[in-house]
Amino acid sequence: MHLRMPPLFLADARGLDFLNSIATPVDAPVDWIRDGRGLIDWLQQAELVPRAQLAEIAARAMPGELDRVANQARDLREWFRDFVKRHMGQPLSADALEGLTPINRLLERDETYHRIVAHADHLALETARRWRSPESLLIPIGEAIARVVAGEDFTQVKACQGENCTLLFADHTRGHARRWCSMSVCGNRAKVTAHRSRQRGAL
Ligand SMILES: [Zn+2]
Repeated sequence: MHLRMPPLFLADARGLDFLNSIATPVDAPVDWIRDGRGLIDWLQQAELVPRAQLAEIAARAMPGELDRVANQARDLREWFRDFVKRHMGQPLSADALEGLTPINRLLERDETYHRIVAHADHLALETARRWRSPESLLIPIGEAIARVVAGEDFTQVKACQGENCTLLFADHTRGHARRWCSMSVCGNRAKVTAHRSRQRGAL
């Protein structure tokens, strides 16, 4: 039942949404990329790979191949979680580069190129990518991670303050006051708890 829950995209940065692809939104943990099928679905909903390419890769994959890529994706996820946990809350300095070799190695395999396409009545330059193997599905994830590392202010990369909540996000709010993964989940829960303890205090 939980497996049909939609993935969470509340981090304000895809690379952090990737970390949130395992979470406990209600009571049981859900891993949206638990297998190859899950990885395909997550990538589609994250809009990291075009739908047509995903369908093609899924159709061409050998048995077990996508599951193996999902395994690699989960390893990458836990590696990046460790990196984020070590560095969040303070500015990320150039010294961190040393620890980022796995991402640069992944990005080296990228096969992006540009092409001119027609957009209604004008021409536009589009970035496209060759998808040679199921492993190439890891590359847009690597790119999303690299964008977090190179583009986000790590002093504003935060963990939700909700009790038992594991979700991470980039606080892009004015004044940097964001405390919760979502107001409707952890924010409300905290309000209810505070209210209850106030009531108890009044008794
Ligand atoms: Zn939360």
